[in-house]
Amino acid sequence: MSNFVKLERVDLRYGGSNGVLALNGTDIEIKRGEFAAVVGPSGWGKSSLMKLVTGLTPPTAGKITVAGETVVGPLKCVGMAFQNPTLLPWRKLLSNVMLPLEIVQPHRRRLPHHRQEYVEKAKGLLKMVSLDGFEERHPWELSGGMQQRANLCRALIHEPDLLMLDEPFGALDAFTREELWGVLDSLSARERK
Ligand code: ADP
Repeated sequence: MSNFVKLERVDLRYGGSNGVLALNGTDIEIKRGEFAAVVGPSGWGKSSLMKLVTGLTPPTAGKITVAGETVVGPLKCVGMAFQNPTLLPWRKLLSNVMLPLEIVQPHRRRLPHHRQEYVEKAKGLLKMVSLDGFEERHPWELSGGMQQRANLCRALIHEPDLLMLDEPFGALDAFTREELWGVLDSLSARERK
């Protein structure tokens, strides 16, 4: 099977030629459907790697390919979640989960005429993470764990080919973290069907 994500001799230096070398000659190959975890101490370049692969930051040297295309800007086929849920406080939960549909094509084009279909899909995802009944609540009315569950739904609503997670459950207590890994496992099992 061919590689879905490929990094070839990638360098990333912040702040010009005398700046911090965050990644040096990095080679990575990940196949479609594969689960890859990057583990290392703080400051070793894990978040930088995520920004490179998703096209948010260009490499200083080397080549990054996703789905056979060289990455030259932010990718549409990606869903992301960070340690902080980053939900928009002025939007209710359902509307937060539906945000990527307003940005990513072809959903952006389809949304005005197929809104109900997308609402059902967002509600279905929220139900999967036991947040049914909370669709009309604001993020600040929910616990940290509930916000991260909604964050996962938002990362998945546009059916991304690539899901990139940067310590999404790091700020949560051990029980909630374990529970959410279970939730993620069932969500990915459902997507693979
Ligand atoms: P990790 O996610 O493994 O903790 P990071 O990718 O955040 O590591 O950081 C890798 C290195 O790059 C660190 O030395 C950090 O200080 C530096 N770095 C990260 N982002 C920036 C930035 N925007 N500007 C300058 N240096 C940065």
